[in-house]
Amino acid sequence: MRFHIVTIFPEFFGSPFQHGVVARAQRAGRLDIQIHDLRNWTYDRHRTVDDRPFGGGEGMLLKPEPLFEAVESILPERTNRRRIVLLSAQGRLFDQPMAVEFSALDELLLICGRYEGVDERVAEHLADAEVSIGDYVLSGGELGAAVIVDAVARLLPGVLGNEESSRNESFSERSEGLLDCPQYTRPADFRGWKAPDVLLGGNHAEIRRWRRAASQAKTERLRPDLLGAGRQEKD
Ligand code: SAM
Repeated sequence: MRFHIVTIFPEFFGSPFQHGVVARAQRAGRLDIQIHDLRNWTYDRHRTVDDRPFGGGEGMLLKPEPLFEAVESILPERTNRRRIVLLSAQGRLFDQPMAVEFSALDELLLICGRYEGVDERVAEHLADAEVSIGDYVLSGGELGAAVIVDAVARLLPGVLGNEESSRNESFSERSEGLLDCPQYTRPADFRGWKAPDVLLGGNHAEIRRWRRAASQAKTERLRPDLLGAGRQEKD
């Protein structure tokens, strides 16, 4: 899968994609991430990408012309396996089902807003969707783009090892609405806090039962909203 990220801060992405799973996926040729400097699609001496909002108000907006030109030259042909997403605090909330949906694409282009935001015609006529990574306002779309790339990359075939990919992670389809179970590693006794005996005993049926109950308890404690949503869907 190929990601394109359109940004006024290309150097922002110097580090986030050079570690762990995402770096491995790129080295293995399963993931390609292309960072595009929006200022390459400007033609004035100052390489201007922003302007004041009509009607007055604080701050500046990203202008439509460089963004339309950038996207149209990076992805000249639209297909249903190529998607254009505008990172936006006002967008649909990014979640695991959306990550799964994106992982089936050939190419995903992420537009990073900055300043007070982006001329609305980009959302209306250029992007296929506006996507938010949470109900808070960031200074730019770059962190959101990095979040999306990371969450999607680990879903691509062959990116995680067998051991990791077979896990029932939180929010995965197989998790049945439950968070992942608590996990422990050595030492079995750390400062008097002991790992549960059942996990050390080697009885796999018991371990499975314990993990299921522990997932349920942790979900009830930390994310009761997930259980509520699950119940409503089943009713
Ligand atoms: N004026 C906008 C509003 O109130 O909705 C906020 C603009 S924000 C300061 C600048 C840019 O950061 C946005 O255009 C968007 O690309 C990005 N951004 C901010 N919060 C975000 C979020 N929660 N998810 C994704 N992108 C976000």
